[in-house]
Amino acid sequence: MSECIKNVNANGTNLSIPPMKVAIIGGGLVGSLAALNFARNGHNVHLYEYREDIRTAELVQGRSINLALSQRGRKALSSVGLEEEVLATAIPMRGRMLHDIKGRTSVVLYDPCTNECLYSVGRKHLNEILLNAGEKFPNIHYHFEHKLKKANFNEGSMSFQRPYEEKDAVATADLIVGADGAFSAVRQQMSKTLGFNYSQEYIEHGYLELCIPAKNDEFQMPPNYLHIWPRNEFMMIALPNQDKSFTVTLSMPFKVFQGIQSHQELLDFFRKYYTDALPLIGEEMLIKDFFKSKPQFLLSIKCNPFHYGDKALLLGDAAHAMVPYYGQGMNAGMEDCSIFFSILHQPHITLARALEQFTETRVQDAHAICDLAMYNYVEMRDLTKRFSFKCRKFLDTTLFRFFPSVWVPLYNSVSFTSMPYSKCIANREWQDEILKKVFGATLFFALTLSGAFIYVNNM
Ligand SMILES: Cc1cc2nc3c(=O)[nH]c(=O)nc-3n(C[C@H](O)[C@H](O)[C@H](O)COP(=O)(O)OP(=O)(O)OC[C@H]3O[C@@H](n4cnc5c(N)ncnc54)[C@H](O)[C@@H]3O)c2cc1C
Repeated sequence: MSECIKNVNANGTNLSIPPMKVAIIGGGLVGSLAALNFARNGHNVHLYEYREDIRTAELVQGRSINLALSQRGRKALSSVGLEEEVLATAIPMRGRMLHDIKGRTSVVLYDPCTNECLYSVGRKHLNEILLNAGEKFPNIHYHFEHKLKKANFNEGSMSFQRPYEEKDAVATADLIVGADGAFSAVRQQMSKTLGFNYSQEYIEHGYLELCIPAKNDEFQMPPNYLHIWPRNEFMMIALPNQDKSFTVTLSMPFKVFQGIQSHQELLDFFRKYYTDALPLIGEEMLIKDFFKSKPQFLLSIKCNPFHYGDKALLLGDAAHAMVPYYGQGMNAGMEDCSIFFSILHQPHITLARALEQFTETRVQDAHAICDLAMYNYVEMRDLTKRFSFKCRKFLDTTLFRFFPSVWVPLYNSVSFTSMPYSKCIANREWQDEILKKVFGATLFFALTLSGAFIYVNNM
């Protein structure tokens, strides 16, 4: 085994859980990160991925080309020694650049006090870094083009469909980890067990990806921002890419998508709502990209528990898929790894207890971030334009500047700290209460004063 495999904790003492055979289903961002973590702890890891190896595939299909990486994801990457490599090619985004309907822009910094920022990272590039890092471990074995069909948790057995193979491949493992995304086959299997709760909600908005290409090898808009075109019922966002293009995500109700049938209707729609973006995307390219694919569905999934006995575990979107409006899906999935492995490192813990403790600590936070993502779904397309939103942002920033350890605004606590998501919400509720009381008292004081003034003047 290579020297990076541990099976000892930071103090050099043996970990409680002896080496086991772990099957990870799904080699996306969370599955490939989980594989690294298990391998570093001395376990024998088999990663089964439905798609072909993205590092050699000619065409990689999938969602959102780039993603916003924040503190929770960075911390998880740092724990496997990859944060620097990822940040080396990531593009920092210091705030939101809002584009109004007339094409005027304004900037709302994420964190004017400490200059924290989000990073735009390429999904494929990040996945490649994680998979390449796994190649260095002799105890990680990749099995691409293996689609999990069935799993029997009690027996630890699995069967996989393979392209061009009539017979399913079979395998066994001590622990089966479902990191197979929002439509997880592992979760589906778990849903057949007693006591498993599950809910899903599709939103009425779909999304479609467009592109603002580079011009003369330069960005066409300032690169260090997450660009937003909020338009009440719908919105568009754009994140910068390494090749100086922007990936644009147009998000609107399906009925609005359906209402745009012809090239002319599309151009008229963009001339009306996205006047400044149209020349940047280019009319020809807009028509090509818009009509080449169908808008994708977005959904939020909650379930409980995240484990089955000492046999199976869910991580990432398999456990908690969310709408993408807080930019936390991947970050939360990566944080699952940080939390699970810090539990696994506790002295004298058993696997059964570690899995149980993971569910106990993580479920309420996973549900909280699903709820927050739904909330931001409204905030990004509507509230960001409102005067009240800007006032609150100003107030939060000012209080954060003077009381940084007491007054952490909601967005900052979610994106730039590891505060449990449920605590971020509780914190915000506490802040709302304080502000209500302060404003109530100020109003009362002002009314009393003016009443006294009128009374004295009329005497
Ligand atoms: C438009 C959009 C924008 C987003 N932006 C952000 C953002 O800015 N920041 C952020 O943090 N998050 C963002 N997200 C969320 C993020 O994409 C997901 O949370 C993240 O990809 C989850 O990673 P995962 O590994 O759990 O699942 P996935 O990325 O879905 O990976 C699952 C893997 O499992 C494989 N698989 C599926 N079924 C099987 C099977 N039966 N057998 C074997 N393998 C299987 C799949 O092929 C896939 O490789 C966004 C999502 C969308 C849709």
